[in-house]
Amino acid sequence: MSRNIMQEYNKQRAAHKIEEIHYKFASNNPRNPVNQASVHELQILKEFNAKKTDKHHEHMVINNNEYIFYAMPVATNVESCMQCHSDPQKAPKSLVAYYGDKAGFYENIGDIRAFVSVTMPLDAELKKMQRMFKLFASALLVLLLVVFSIIFYFIKQLDHRDAKLLEQANKDALTKIYNRHVFNEDIERMDNQRKSIGQYLMIIDIDYFKSVNDTFGHATGDKVLMQLSEIISKSIREHDKFYRIGGEEFAIFSIHKSLEDATEFAERLRKEIKASQFEKIGSITISIGIAQLHAHDTGAKLFDRADMALYNAKEAGRDRVHVLLDT
Ligand code: GH3
Ligand code: MG
Ligand code: MG
Repeated sequence: MSRNIMQEYNKQRAAHKIEEIHYKFASNNPRNPVNQASVHELQILKEFNAKKTDKHHEHMVINNNEYIFYAMPVATNVESCMQCHSDPQKAPKSLVAYYGDKAGFYENIGDIRAFVSVTMPLDAELKKMQRMFKLFASALLVLLLVVFSIIFYFIKQLDHRDAKLLEQANKDALTKIYNRHVFNEDIERMDNQRKSIGQYLMIIDIDYFKSVNDTFGHATGDKVLMQLSEIISKSIREHDKFYRIGGEEFAIFSIHKSLEDATEFAERLRKEIKASQFEKIGSITISIGIAQLHAHDTGAKLFDRADMALYNAKEAGRDRVHVLLDT
């Protein structure tokens, strides 16, 4: 009956393209040849008869497919079995006539005649679990991606806002270069710093800028400030720092090998501005004051010397570079 149930069950599995479960009453001396134990099953039967174990299960891999194998004894010979399973002479004639006088005979009381042997393929179950796992993992991944994207978006927004606030605090609104606030901080910081040899402060002032405003208007004056800032920004080197420190006053911190190099650099800027064409007004000139940072300097002293050098350049007629060597 159990074999018939198994057959029905396997029909359903086959209809769903799932590998069949193998089920039988394995015996070393079966009357029905389909129950003949395999070599593997005979080995297990031996262990059952030797009372080494009363059940057997193992995980098997056959042709790369995984199976669970389970075996358990179901029929042990007792006195009442002997009529049909010991000497064929004692057995009903019809039985011998049907099965012959060998299969199922010559057994002893206490012998385990048969055991249930079930081989269940694991692939279908594993694949189902894998599908479930993949589905779950994919859903989790999507969820995590969404959560991370949202977090990333908000962090970016905050970064962007911070960067904007920092820019507003540090950059001049008109020219987009560093403002007076940053310049003051850098000047103050110099007091506590080891002085970097070869550092120069240059203060730049546009000559007669008031007349530019008076003649062409404040808006044109603003454009001059923007254009001048662009030209100088492109001309300075990577380590130079450029500030707007007043209405039409600018400053540059830059490093040079010698005072000659610093002066030459300032001269180049002066000439470049003079050679540039400014909308409506044509050309302008600038004056530059230079001071070199000394080992025991303070930022304030350095600034005063550069400012004095600028004053001297103005006094000397403008459109020139002046250096103040000492305090
Ligand atoms: P000097 O050669 O002595 O430097 O003469 P100057 O006319 O440049 O000097 P002064 O300090 O008398 O004039 C500076 C002018 O800069 C006065 C002011 O109208 C103008 N100015 C200051 N800030 C701005 C600004 O943001 N935009 C414009 N368009 N003009 C400004
Ligand atoms: Mg000026
Ligand atoms: Mg000025």
